[in-house]
Amino acid sequence: MRGDEVLLHLVRTRAELAEAMARLREGGRRVALVPTMGALHEGHLALLDQGREGADAVAISIFVNPLQFGPGEDLDRYPRTLERDLALAGERGAVLAFAPDRDEMYPGGDPQVQVTPGPMGDRLCGAFRPGHFQGVLTVVARLFGLFRPAVALFGRKDLQQSLLVRRMVTDLELGVEVVTAPTVREADGLALSSRNAYLTPPERTEAAGLFRALTAADTAFREGERDPDRLRAVAVETLSRYPLLRLQYAEVVEPERLETPSEAAPGHHLALAAHLGSTRLIDNVALGAENPDPRLPSPTGEGVR
Ligand code: AMP
Repeated sequence: MRGDEVLLHLVRTRAELAEAMARLREGGRRVALVPTMGALHEGHLALLDQGREGADAVAISIFVNPLQFGPGEDLDRYPRTLERDLALAGERGAVLAFAPDRDEMYPGGDPQVQVTPGPMGDRLCGAFRPGHFQGVLTVVARLFGLFRPAVALFGRKDLQQSLLVRRMVTDLELGVEVVTAPTVREADGLALSSRNAYLTPPERTEAAGLFRALTAADTAFREGERDPDRLRAVAVETLSRYPLLRLQYAEVVEPERLETPSEAAPGHHLALAAHLGSTRLIDNVALGAENPDPRLPSPTGEGVR
């Protein structure tokens, strides 16, 4: 907490943003950007902390991007808590917040030219959310153009998103340093997410099953299992003990193309998505990560419930 030092400047228009960013960049100062859809939680705030550490100033964008929601998804009910978000972001040292409305973000309607993610965008979540990553990359590219940040921070919780953004910056030479930050979790391992607010109490209890499934597969990997199908089966078996959890996918993937390797190796991920009632949650673990996130609770193993 920075208490009475809160200096957050809210801008609503592209013109105000350009002016504010020009001032922040004066003297060659490096500005970090944390793009969000708001309803901020500790996961977002940890990105602000990390941004402050690696740059001279940290800025945040808060925009629920319609382009990345499919028909029937939760665009209308997505939580919008701007006042609270601004207070939290200010306390955590953000100096600039850009919170445009849809017309300001996309003047003249949805952009005609959009960023195509390529085959990586059809894997994992992309197979179930057609157009989602095109919407994500398009808004991120636009935010990079508007902010021109030196650094941008993304959470590893959204594995496919962070890898695609990295890939976009490399493939299109966008000149932004992309930093990926560890997943922040609740005490029972559930990854923080704005969508956790949708969960009923029984669903919330079962949501911990995602982390248990990832932990069980990671434990099997550490014990020497290298067969992606068997690692996946360990996760699926663990999830099957949670009757409210409906698995959408669980896959071992390598980070370059998000393909399933013939043999799992350190640095590969097990990624999964599941529904709890009407809520869709995703999570992943880096198999055998040498430096597990210090904020992770110790592995709970199997049979804890
Ligand atoms: P969102 O507002 O959901 O679009 O997320 C904005 C950024 O916060 C994305 O880069 C997410 O990956 C990141 N993020 C969301 N949840 C977490 C979490 N539990 N830990 C770390 N980063 C997160």
